[in-house]
Amino acid sequence: MLSIKNLHASVEEKSILRGLNLEVNAGEVHAIMGPNGSGKSTLSQVLAGREDYKIESGEVDWMGQDLLSMSIEERARSGLFLAFQYPIEIPGVSNAYFLKAAVNATRRHQGLPELDAMDFLKKVKAEMKAVGMREEFLYRSVNEGFSGGEKKRNEVLQMTLLEPKLAILDETDSGLDIDALKVVADGVNRLRSPERALIVITHYQRLLDYIVPDFVHVLAGGRIVRSGGRELALELEERGYGWVTEEAAAGK
Ligand code: ADP
Ligand code: MG
Ligand code: MG
Repeated sequence: MLSIKNLHASVEEKSILRGLNLEVNAGEVHAIMGPNGSGKSTLSQVLAGREDYKIESGEVDWMGQDLLSMSIEERARSGLFLAFQYPIEIPGVSNAYFLKAAVNATRRHQGLPELDAMDFLKKVKAEMKAVGMREEFLYRSVNEGFSGGEKKRNEVLQMTLLEPKLAILDETDSGLDIDALKVVADGVNRLRSPERALIVITHYQRLLDYIVPDFVHVLAGGRIVRSGGRELALELEERGYGWVTEEAAAGK
């Protein structure tokens, strides 16, 4: 589904990703962990297509297409969803309007009929119930004045409605209390399916108690320096990141 080969990328002349390789297949959940400043968010921004990030070399194949040549909108419409550490606020645009427009843009792209107002409301209300959001949030401006937990719930709602093929969550757990964390995890777990893949970027192992990954990778110095199963996350929690980066530097 997603194949990243020898990716090098820089920000403001500073090289951040330095030969990153990653293969993600449909049905898999991958966790990417790593020390602060190792390039985790840069990777998600590069996959999203943000302009500040310059691709120096490497390839990203996304379902048979060259991801790096696609626009931000094309990436989103083709089923790539990115949830960010700091969700944007859109004053003056109601959440309902925003969600309906996003859902229907994706449906058009997939050759599906658009949802009319009635069908959309039925669907969105059911999903809001599942993530514990009150209906009033439909009529408020996107994320404006939402608390941290409410923004996360809204992000999970967006993700669920868009039914992405690949969802990338960048530190969606940062600053969440345990209830909000469970909402995020439940939302993600409901999305798990053989046709879909998920990349969960997190600094801490805590989220992975709730979203159990198939693979865990350590990103350090702009490369994946170690990959393993779920037990790697537990080992990192116990031992920190130092030993992995040291072993990687020593060429082990
Ligand atoms: P992580 O998410 O793993 O903590 P980041 O990808 O956010 O790491 O950052 C990697 C490095 O790139 C850091 O040294 C950071 O300061 C730098 N960096 C990231 N984005 C920018 C930017 N927009 N401008 C300047 N430097 C940046
Ligand atoms: Mg960081
Ligand atoms: Mg980050």
